[in-house]
Amino acid sequence: MVTQSTTNSNAVALVTGGSSGIGAASVKAFLAKGVTKVVVADYSDSLTSAVQAFSKAYPDAEIVGVKTDVSDEAQVKAMVATAVDKFGRLDYAVNCAGIGLAAPFTDTTTELYDKVTGVNERGVFLCVREQLIQMLKQDYQPSRDDRRKQRGAIVNIASILGQFSCQSTTAYVSSKHAVCGLTKSASFENSSKGVRVNAIAPGWIDTPMTASEGANLLFQWGTTPDRTPLGRGGYAEEIADVVVFLCSEEASFVTGAVWNVDGGYSTV
Ligand code: NAP
Repeated sequence: MVTQSTTNSNAVALVTGGSSGIGAASVKAFLAKGVTKVVVADYSDSLTSAVQAFSKAYPDAEIVGVKTDVSDEAQVKAMVATAVDKFGRLDYAVNCAGIGLAAPFTDTTTELYDKVTGVNERGVFLCVREQLIQMLKQDYQPSRDDRRKQRGAIVNIASILGQFSCQSTTAYVSSKHAVCGLTKSASFENSSKGVRVNAIAPGWIDTPMTASEGANLLFQWGTTPDRTPLGRGGYAEEIADVVVFLCSEEASFVTGAVWNVDGGYSTV
């Protein structure tokens, strides 16, 4: 069911890592549900072409691309400021930007550790902090039901590797455990003030990240389809649909949660 808040034409969505994979699928899912004001943030060179493609598919929507490195505090502040300058508020924020670099624990250089945690952990922290600061000062969205009203909703893309480990994943596993922790912390302090914060823990999802050569160790070992009860990997759209649900007022009693969307992998 499409929710009132999600289809509110005044809702503003922001997606980091929005030009590729799960982020791009989330942008499309918001647009398909009637959200017409979307900020796509990414540091990828494909940002411009991605925004052009979204705009072509949804000509009535206002879609803004903001080149952003989420590990850079000033750029994250500028990203949120751009959304608010352009659209006046921020209703849904989805933090997808992430990198996956693999190395055994003892081969994990300080540089590699800092790079991965800098984007995946520090980047999510910086984004959530700035998104919360904005959401907490804006009015509640219109709602069909006072109990469901919200000022905003945030969804962080963690990983099933935010709950356990596999080989050569030290930095990535650390960063994704941290995303789960800071999601709970942000939820604890801010849900009663009108901002719900949740995380999604995807299993193996078919995206450019998992297609890359270096991703073999990180994403395919132990998470291959034959070890997944559903018998296959997932598609970015299957994560995006949960993103939109968690942002909507139909998820009004869901906060501080980490949703496994993994074909059942984490249950075996
Ligand atoms: P993806 O297709 O590589 O998309 C990630 C996007 O984030 C890319 O456009 C990337 O740009 C961008 N990005 C990387 N570092 C950034 C930074 N510092 N600032 C801004 N943008 C940055 O990967 P994906 O599979 O959709 O992954 C999305 C999220 O899901 C990630 O957090 C990932 O860890 C998580 N996840 C993915 C899977 C999976 O199986 N695919 C499973 C569990 C969790 P570049 O392409 O230029 O690097």
